[in-house]
Amino acid sequence: MPAMLLDGKKTASEIRAEVASEVEQWKKQGGKTPKLAAVLVGDDPASQVYVRNKERACAQVGMASELFRLPVATSTEALLELLEQLNNDPYVHGILVQLPLPYGLDTQRILDAVAPNKDVDAFAPENVGLLVQGRPRFLPCTPHGVVQILARYGIVLEGKHVVVLGRSDIVGKPLANMLVQKDIGLGPQYANASVTICHSKSQNLAAITRTADVLVAAVGKPGLVSADMVRPGAVVIDVGINRVGEKLVGDVDFDEVSSVAGHLTPVPGGVGPLTIAMLLRNTLLACQIQALVD
Ligand code: NAD
Repeated sequence: MPAMLLDGKKTASEIRAEVASEVEQWKKQGGKTPKLAAVLVGDDPASQVYVRNKERACAQVGMASELFRLPVATSTEALLELLEQLNNDPYVHGILVQLPLPYGLDTQRILDAVAPNKDVDAFAPENVGLLVQGRPRFLPCTPHGVVQILARYGIVLEGKHVVVLGRSDIVGKPLANMLVQKDIGLGPQYANASVTICHSKSQNLAAITRTADVLVAAVGKPGLVSADMVRPGAVVIDVGINRVGEKLVGDVDFDEVSSVAGHLTPVPGGVGPLTIAMLLRNTLLACQIQALVD
Protein backbone atom coordinates (compact mmCIF):
# COMPACT_ATOMS: atom_id res chain seq x y z
CA MET A 1 0.00 0.00 0.00
CA PRO A 2 1.45 3.43 -0.87
CA ALA A 3 2.35 5.77 1.99
CA MET A 4 -0.27 8.15 3.30
CA LEU A 5 0.75 11.68 2.31
CA LEU A 6 0.94 14.29 5.06
CA ASP A 7 -0.48 17.47 3.53
CA GLY A 8 1.60 20.44 4.66
CA LYS A 9 -0.41 22.93 2.64
CA LYS A 10 -3.65 21.98 4.37
CA THR A 11 -2.04 21.86 7.82
CA ALA A 12 -0.39 25.26 7.27
CA SER A 13 -3.66 26.85 6.18
CA GLU A 14 -5.37 25.50 9.33
CA ILE A 15 -2.62 27.04 11.48
CA ARG A 16 -2.79 30.33 9.58
CA ALA A 17 -6.54 30.50 10.14
CA GLU A 18 -5.99 29.90 13.87
CA VAL A 19 -3.35 32.65 14.02
CA ALA A 20 -5.63 35.04 12.08
CA SER A 21 -8.44 34.55 14.58
CA GLU A 22 -6.04 34.98 17.54
CA VAL A 23 -4.69 38.19 15.99
CA GLU A 24 -8.24 39.49 15.58
CA GLN A 25 -9.02 38.66 19.22
CA TRP A 26 -5.76 40.25 20.37
CA LYS A 27 -6.44 43.50 18.50
CA LYS A 28 -10.05 43.58 19.78
CA GLN A 29 -8.69 43.45 23.33
CA GLY A 30 -6.56 46.51 22.57
CA GLY A 31 -3.31 44.76 21.61
CA LYS A 32 -1.00 46.38 19.07
CA THR A 33 -0.97 45.06 15.51
CA PRO A 34 1.85 42.50 15.45
CA LYS A 35 4.55 43.62 13.02
CA LEU A 36 7.34 41.68 11.35
CA ALA A 37 10.40 43.48 9.99
CA ALA A 38 12.16 41.51 7.27
CA VAL A 39 15.73 42.40 6.33
CA LEU A 40 16.88 41.36 2.87
CA VAL A 41 20.43 42.05 1.74
CA GLY A 42 21.34 41.66 -1.94
CA ASP A 43 19.23 40.34 -4.79
CA ASP A 44 19.22 36.55 -4.46
CA PRO A 45 16.06 35.58 -6.41
CA ALA A 46 15.03 32.72 -4.06
CA SER A 47 15.38 34.99 -1.00
CA GLN A 48 13.24 37.64 -2.70
CA VAL A 49 10.47 35.08 -3.26
CA TYR A 50 10.68 33.84 0.36
CA VAL A 51 10.48 37.38 1.76
CA ARG A 52 7.56 38.31 -0.50
CA ASN A 53 5.70 35.18 0.63
CA LYS A 54 6.31 36.06 4.28
CA GLU A 55 4.99 39.62 3.77
CA ARG A 56 1.90 38.33 1.98
CA ALA A 57 1.29 35.78 4.75
CA CYS A 58 1.48 38.54 7.40
CA ALA A 59 -1.16 40.60 5.59
CA GLN A 60 -3.45 37.56 5.29
CA VAL A 61 -3.54 37.06 9.07
CA GLY A 62 -3.99 40.76 9.92
CA MET A 63 -0.37 41.51 10.82
CA ALA A 64 1.83 44.32 9.56
CA SER A 65 5.18 43.81 7.91
CA GLU A 66 7.93 45.99 6.50
CA LEU A 67 10.71 44.97 4.19
CA PHE A 68 14.14 46.55 4.62
CA ARG A 69 16.05 46.00 1.37
CA LEU A 70 19.75 46.67 1.45
CA PRO A 71 22.27 46.53 -1.40
CA VAL A 72 24.65 43.59 -1.68
CA ALA A 73 27.59 45.86 -0.72
CA THR A 74 26.10 46.61 2.73
CA SER A 75 28.65 46.33 5.56
CA THR A 76 28.20 44.30 8.74
CA GLU A 77 28.30 47.59 10.71
CA ALA A 78 25.49 49.15 8.64
CA LEU A 79 23.36 46.07 9.16
CA LEU A 80 24.05 46.08 12.90
CA GLU A 81 22.93 49.72 13.00
CA LEU A 82 19.64 48.87 11.28
CA LEU A 83 19.08 45.98 13.72
CA GLU A 84 19.68 48.32 16.64
CA GLN A 85 16.96 50.65 15.30
CA LEU A 86 14.54 47.76 14.82
CA ASN A 87 15.35 46.34 18.27
CA ASN A 88 14.34 49.71 19.77
CA ASP A 89 11.26 50.29 17.61
CA PRO A 90 8.17 49.69 19.80
CA TYR A 91 6.04 48.99 16.71
CA VAL A 92 8.30 46.17 15.44
CA HIS A 93 7.74 42.87 17.26
CA GLY A 94 9.54 40.31 15.13
CA ILE A 95 12.79 40.68 13.19
CA LEU A 96 13.79 38.31 10.46
CA VAL A 97 17.15 38.45 8.68
CA GLN A 98 16.74 36.52 5.44
CA LEU A 99 19.53 33.96 4.99
CA PRO A 100 21.90 33.37 3.37
CA LEU A 101 23.56 36.77 3.72
CA PRO A 102 25.97 37.77 0.94
CA TYR A 103 29.58 36.64 1.21
CA GLY A 104 31.70 38.88 3.43
CA LEU A 105 29.00 39.68 6.00
CA ASP A 106 29.47 38.32 9.52
CA THR A 107 26.28 36.23 9.71
CA GLN A 108 26.83 35.08 13.30
CA ARG A 109 27.41 38.61 14.63
CA ILE A 110 24.38 39.86 12.74
CA LEU A 111 22.04 37.12 13.97
CA ASP A 112 23.36 37.55 17.51
CA ALA A 113 22.39 41.25 17.34
CA VAL A 114 18.64 40.58 17.05
CA ALA A 115 16.96 41.27 20.41
CA PRO A 116 15.97 37.88 21.93
CA ASN A 117 12.37 39.08 22.47
CA LYS A 118 12.08 39.83 18.73
CA ASP A 119 14.02 36.79 17.51
CA VAL A 120 11.13 35.04 15.76
CA ASP A 121 13.52 32.60 14.03
CA ALA A 122 14.77 31.49 17.49
CA PHE A 123 18.44 31.69 16.44
CA ALA A 124 19.69 33.88 19.32
CA PRO A 125 21.91 32.02 21.81
CA GLU A 126 19.53 32.92 24.65
CA ASN A 127 16.57 31.39 22.81
CA VAL A 128 18.56 28.29 21.82
CA GLY A 129 19.61 27.89 25.48
CA LEU A 130 16.02 28.21 26.70
CA LEU A 131 14.91 25.55 24.21
CA VAL A 132 17.69 23.16 25.27
CA GLN A 133 16.62 23.64 28.89
CA GLY A 134 13.05 22.74 28.00
CA ARG A 135 11.53 26.19 28.58
CA PRO A 136 11.38 27.65 25.07
CA ARG A 137 10.43 31.28 24.40
CA PHE A 138 10.04 30.76 20.64
CA LEU A 139 10.05 27.41 18.89
CA PRO A 140 12.22 27.48 15.76
CA CYS A 141 9.96 27.70 12.68
CA THR A 142 10.88 24.73 10.48
CA PRO A 143 11.36 22.21 13.35
CA HIS A 144 8.11 23.46 14.88
CA GLY A 145 6.41 22.89 11.51
CA VAL A 146 7.68 19.29 11.52
CA VAL A 147 6.25 18.63 14.98
CA GLN A 148 2.96 20.36 14.11
CA ILE A 149 2.36 18.23 11.03
CA LEU A 150 3.10 15.05 13.01
CA ALA A 151 0.86 16.12 15.89
CA ARG A 152 -2.04 17.18 13.68
CA TYR A 153 -1.99 13.79 11.97
CA GLY A 154 -1.95 12.15 15.41
CA ILE A 155 1.51 10.59 14.96
CA VAL A 156 2.67 10.01 18.52
CA LEU A 157 6.38 10.56 19.20
CA GLU A 158 6.57 9.55 22.84
CA GLY A 159 8.95 6.60 23.23
CA LYS A 160 9.58 6.43 19.46
CA HIS A 161 12.98 6.40 17.81
CA VAL A 162 13.38 9.49 15.62
CA VAL A 163 16.41 9.68 13.34
CA VAL A 164 17.26 13.19 12.12
CA LEU A 165 19.56 13.51 9.11
CA GLY A 166 21.38 16.86 9.33
CA ARG A 167 22.78 18.85 12.26
CA SER A 168 22.29 22.46 11.10
CA ASP A 169 21.41 25.20 13.58
CA ILE A 170 18.25 25.91 11.57
CA VAL A 171 16.71 22.44 11.31
CA GLY A 172 18.54 19.34 12.57
CA LYS A 173 19.86 20.44 15.96
CA PRO A 174 16.82 22.44 17.14
CA LEU A 175 14.46 19.68 15.98
CA ALA A 176 16.39 17.09 17.99
CA ASN A 177 16.37 19.45 20.98
CA MET A 178 12.61 19.79 20.75
CA LEU A 179 11.85 16.10 20.37
CA VAL A 180 13.81 15.01 23.46
CA GLN A 181 11.92 17.43 25.73
CA LYS A 182 9.14 16.22 28.01
CA ASP A 183 6.60 18.59 26.46
CA ILE A 184 7.00 21.57 24.16
CA GLY A 185 3.43 22.73 24.55
CA LEU A 186 1.69 20.17 22.32
CA GLY A 187 1.37 17.48 24.97
CA PRO A 188 3.83 14.81 26.14
CA GLN A 189 2.83 12.44 23.34
CA TYR A 190 4.39 14.84 20.80
CA ALA A 191 7.76 14.96 22.58
CA ASN A 192 9.64 12.39 24.70
CA ALA A 193 11.26 10.71 21.69
CA SER A 194 14.59 8.86 21.61
CA VAL A 195 16.56 10.86 19.06
CA THR A 196 19.58 10.02 16.91
CA ILE A 197 21.23 12.75 14.85
CA CYS A 198 23.23 11.78 11.76
CA HIS A 199 25.45 14.11 9.75
CA SER A 200 28.05 14.18 7.00
CA LYS A 201 30.51 12.06 9.01
CA SER A 202 28.03 9.42 10.16
CA GLN A 203 28.86 5.88 9.11
CA ASN A 204 26.49 3.06 8.15
CA LEU A 205 23.70 5.55 7.59
CA ALA A 206 21.23 2.98 6.23
CA ALA A 207 21.71 0.70 9.27
CA ILE A 208 20.78 3.62 11.54
CA THR A 209 17.88 4.96 9.47
CA ARG A 210 16.30 1.50 9.22
CA THR A 211 15.83 1.57 13.01
CA ALA A 212 13.79 4.78 12.82
CA ASP A 213 10.09 4.90 13.59
CA VAL A 214 10.23 8.46 12.27
CA LEU A 215 12.93 9.52 9.81
CA VAL A 216 13.50 13.23 9.15
CA ALA A 217 15.75 14.25 6.26
CA ALA A 218 17.18 17.80 6.43
CA VAL A 219 20.34 17.62 4.37
CA GLY A 220 19.91 19.26 0.96
CA LYS A 221 20.83 16.25 -1.21
CA PRO A 222 18.20 15.06 -3.69
CA GLY A 223 17.51 11.33 -3.55
CA LEU A 224 19.66 10.76 -0.43
CA VAL A 225 16.98 8.64 1.26
CA SER A 226 16.24 5.52 -0.78
CA ALA A 227 13.72 2.76 -0.07
CA ASP A 228 16.32 0.42 1.47
CA MET A 229 17.02 3.04 4.17
CA VAL A 230 13.42 3.04 5.42
CA ARG A 231 11.80 0.52 7.75
CA PRO A 232 8.47 -0.63 6.25
CA GLY A 233 5.67 1.48 7.72
CA ALA A 234 7.95 4.23 9.08
CA VAL A 235 7.00 7.91 9.00
CA VAL A 236 9.27 9.89 6.67
CA ILE A 237 9.47 13.69 6.85
CA ASP A 238 11.31 15.36 4.00
CA VAL A 239 12.57 18.83 4.93
CA GLY A 240 14.95 19.13 1.97
CA ILE A 241 14.23 21.63 -0.79
CA ASN A 242 16.43 21.13 -3.84
CA ARG A 243 16.09 22.54 -7.32
CA VAL A 244 16.71 19.91 -9.97
CA GLY A 245 16.30 21.55 -13.37
CA GLU A 246 12.86 23.19 -13.24
CA LYS A 247 11.62 20.91 -10.45
CA LEU A 248 11.71 21.24 -6.67
CA VAL A 249 12.51 17.95 -4.94
CA GLY A 250 13.30 16.89 -1.40
CA ASP A 251 16.04 14.67 0.04
CA VAL A 252 13.85 11.58 -0.22
CA ASP A 253 13.45 9.50 -3.37
CA PHE A 254 9.71 10.03 -3.36
CA ASP A 255 8.71 7.30 -5.85
CA GLU A 256 10.76 4.59 -4.14
CA VAL A 257 10.07 5.56 -0.54
CA SER A 258 6.33 6.05 -0.97
CA SER A 259 6.00 2.31 -1.54
CA VAL A 260 7.74 1.46 1.77
CA ALA A 261 6.89 4.25 4.24
CA GLY A 262 3.64 4.39 6.20
CA HIS A 263 3.43 8.21 6.03
CA LEU A 264 5.41 10.64 3.91
CA THR A 265 5.56 14.42 3.32
CA PRO A 266 5.76 15.50 -0.33
CA VAL A 267 8.02 18.23 -1.72
CA PRO A 268 6.65 20.73 -2.51
CA GLY A 269 3.57 20.90 -0.28
CA GLY A 270 5.05 19.22 2.80
CA VAL A 271 7.12 20.94 5.49
CA GLY A 272 7.78 24.09 3.38
CA PRO A 273 4.40 25.83 3.91
CA LEU A 274 4.54 25.15 7.65
CA THR A 275 7.70 27.22 8.15
CA ILE A 276 5.87 30.46 7.30
CA ALA A 277 2.83 29.47 9.39
CA MET A 278 5.06 29.00 12.44
CA LEU A 279 6.81 32.31 11.75
CA LEU A 280 3.40 34.01 11.95
CA ARG A 281 2.70 32.26 15.24
CA ASN A 282 6.04 33.47 16.63
CA THR A 283 5.37 37.05 15.50
CA LEU A 284 2.07 37.13 17.39
CA LEU A 285 3.79 35.60 20.42
CA ALA A 286 6.60 38.19 20.20
CA CYS A 287 3.99 40.98 20.20
CA GLN A 288 2.29 39.46 23.25
CA ILE A 289 5.61 39.02 25.09
CA GLN A 290 6.56 42.64 24.40
CA ALA A 291 3.19 43.88 25.62
CA LEU A 292 4.08 42.39 29.03
CA VAL A 293 7.27 44.46 29.29
CA ASP A 294 6.00 47.70 27.59
P1 NAD B 1 22.83 22.77 5.96
O1 NAD B 1 23.57 22.73 4.68
O2 NAD B 1 23.09 23.86 6.93
O3 NAD B 1 23.05 21.39 6.72
C1 NAD B 1 23.05 20.18 6.06
C2 NAD B 1 23.36 19.10 7.06
O4 NAD B 1 23.35 17.83 6.39
C3 NAD B 1 24.73 19.23 7.72
O5 NAD B 1 24.54 19.21 9.11
C4 NAD B 1 25.51 17.99 7.26
O6 NAD B 1 26.35 17.46 8.27
C5 NAD B 1 24.40 17.03 6.91
N1 NAD B 1 24.78 16.05 5.90
C6 NAD B 1 25.47 16.22 4.76
N2 NAD B 1 25.60 15.06 4.09
C7 NAD B 1 24.95 14.12 4.83
C8 NAD B 1 24.72 12.75 4.67
N3 NAD B 1 25.17 12.08 3.61
N4 NAD B 1 24.02 12.10 5.62
C9 NAD B 1 23.55 12.75 6.72
N5 NAD B 1 23.73 14.07 6.91
C10 NAD B 1 24.43 14.74 5.98
O7 NAD B 1 21.30 22.70 5.56
P2 NAD B 1 19.93 23.18 6.28
O8 NAD B 1 19.90 24.65 6.33
O9 NAD B 1 19.69 22.41 7.52
O10 NAD B 1 18.90 22.68 5.18
C11 NAD B 1 18.77 21.32 4.83
C12 NAD B 1 17.76 21.18 3.73
O11 NAD B 1 16.50 21.63 4.23
C13 NAD B 1 18.03 22.05 2.50
O12 NAD B 1 17.56 21.37 1.36
C14 NAD B 1 17.18 23.27 2.75
O13 NAD B 1 16.79 23.91 1.52
C15 NAD B 1 16.00 22.67 3.43
N6 NAD B 1 15.27 23.59 4.30
C16 NAD B 1 13.92 23.60 4.18
C17 NAD B 1 13.18 24.43 4.99
C18 NAD B 1 11.67 24.42 4.85
O14 NAD B 1 11.03 25.39 5.14
N7 NAD B 1 11.10 23.30 4.43
C19 NAD B 1 13.79 25.27 5.91
C20 NAD B 1 15.17 25.21 6.05
C21 NAD B 1 15.91 24.36 5.23
